Amino acid sequence: MNLIVLGPPGAGKGTQCVKVAKSFDLVQLSTGEMLRSEVESRSELGIEVKNILDMGDLVPDDMVISMLSNRMDSYNSVKGFIFDGFPRTTAQASALDKMLVEKHQKMDHVIQLEVDEAAIIERLSGRFSCSRCGAGYHNLYKKPKVDKRCDICGAEEFSRRSDDNPETVRSRLVAYREQTAPILPFYEDKGILKYVNGMKSMNEVFDNIKEILSGR
Ligand code: ADP
Ligand code: AMP
Repeated sequence: MNLIVLGPPGAGKGTQCVKVAKSFDLVQLSTGEMLRSEVESRSELGIEVKNILDMGDLVPDDMVISMLSNRMDSYNSVKGFIFDGFPRTTAQASALDKMLVEKHQKMDHVIQLEVDEAAIIERLSGRFSCSRCGAGYHNLYKKPKVDKRCDICGAEEFSRRSDDNPETVRSRLVAYREQTAPILPFYEDKGILKYVNGMKSMNEVFDNIKEILSGR
């Protein structure tokens, strides 16, 4: 089974993708995570895209598509992929379709997480993650069980994304509205697009997604 989780920045895509990947034994492919680790390792690609991420703009399609395609090819036998943050443009959506056909696969579900703009700002300004394992947290909605200690790996160092500042978030929202939201009709026409209310609690959102994936 292959699925895409779509939605504006802060909608809860990463949060839900981790849960779905674990529950359905899928490989999570997050292009944002891949790009951030390229920037961190100061690779050729990382150096090229650093400013784009800092500005909140989208990385050019050809770069993201080839990065994703290489990553998919690095897996031999998997039950399926869950795409987080990809596709973000109609060109990426068409390229993904083509890649799946070449690999004799298809897209089964596209989940669009719907959230209010006020919630987006609140979620992104409170987001932080474990510096060692990357587990995601929130100042109000998902605090570590033990103060300042990661629930998953026990590390005591956390970090915040530099692009979660208000100015960059505004640019990311514009990029979402202008370039990403227009891909919804592409999946609507294929009859595989489902809308989920992302304003509910993390567990309720997960239950709704599970119902869709299990065909209930
Ligand atoms: P995205 O991957 O779509 O940018 P994240 O999954 O990183 O979004 O979520 C953004 C922030 O909001 C995180 O700090 C996360 O803990 C929090 N969050 C995610 N889903 C919910 C929810 N349903 N209710 C409240 N907070 C949430
Ligand atoms: P995300 O982690 O999904 O919020 O992405 C963080 C940033 O990485 C975005 O603001 C973009 O600059 C870049 N990015 C991630 N995925 C893509 C993509 N599919 N296409 C273009 N840029 C992307």
